[in-house]
Amino acid sequence: MSAEQTLKQVAGEVAICTNCILHMTRKKSVPGEGPANSEIMCIGEGPGMNENEQGRPFVGAAGNFLNQLLAQAGLKREEVWIGNVVKCRPPDNRDPLPEELTACNTYLERQIEAINPRIIVTLGRFSMGKFMPGAKISAVHGQMRKVGDRFVIAMFHPAAALHQPALMKTIMMDFSRLPQLLDVARKELAKSASAAANVEETRVEPKQLSLF
Ligand code: URA
Ligand code: SF4
Repeated sequence: MSAEQTLKQVAGEVAICTNCILHMTRKKSVPGEGPANSEIMCIGEGPGMNENEQGRPFVGAAGNFLNQLLAQAGLKREEVWIGNVVKCRPPDNRDPLPEELTACNTYLERQIEAINPRIIVTLGRFSMGKFMPGAKISAVHGQMRKVGDRFVIAMFHPAAALHQPALMKTIMMDFSRLPQLLDVARKELAKSASAAANVEETRVEPKQLSLF
C-alpha cells in the first residue's frame, strides 16, 4: 500500500473509532494532514474547539501561531505534515489521559511509518513524551535528538506560548534555530545514507568480480 493510501485508511478508521472515551464527545475526528512524503512531521497534543468543528489540525489561534513560526523558519505549512497524539478532542481542552494516548497510539505509529519523515517536531509535552520518555520540556525544548533513524526536535506547544508571555519569547527563539537544526539533521542523515551505500557496494563487489 502506498503512503497516501495508508494515510487515507487511517483517517477512515479514526473517523469511526470508538477505542477511547473521547469518541463520545467528538464532532469531527482530526487525523492530521499534509503530504504523504513530508520530510517533517509536526505532532501536537489533540484537537481543540476549532479543530473539532472542522476536522483539521491547528486551525485556531494556536494554528495561526504555528503557521507563523513555521514561516519564520522558512517552512510552508503545506509542505509539512501536521497532526496530534490523540485524534479526538479532549473535552474542555483537558490533557489527554494515559489510556487515551495508548488507545490512539497505533494510528500515529502507522502514520509515521507510512510517511517515514526524517525529522519529527514535537509540540508540547505529550508529543515529546512519546519520543523522549522521562524528558522535561523545560530542559529539552529547542533541542534535537536522534531517535532511531530520525531526528526529533522538542518544542513547547504553541497554545501554551499564546497564554504565557514568557514562553512566547522562548518558542520564537527555538523556532528561529529550526533552520540550523534541519541543516544538521539533513547532513547527518546524508552521511549515514552514504555510509550505508558504501557498505552495500563492498558487499556487492565480490559477487561482481566472480562474474569474470
Ligand atoms: N492544539 C493541538 O495540540 N492540536 C491541534 O490540532 C490544535 C491545537
Ligand atoms: Fe479512537 Fe483516538 Fe479518537 Fe480515542 S482519540 S476515539 S483512540 S481516534
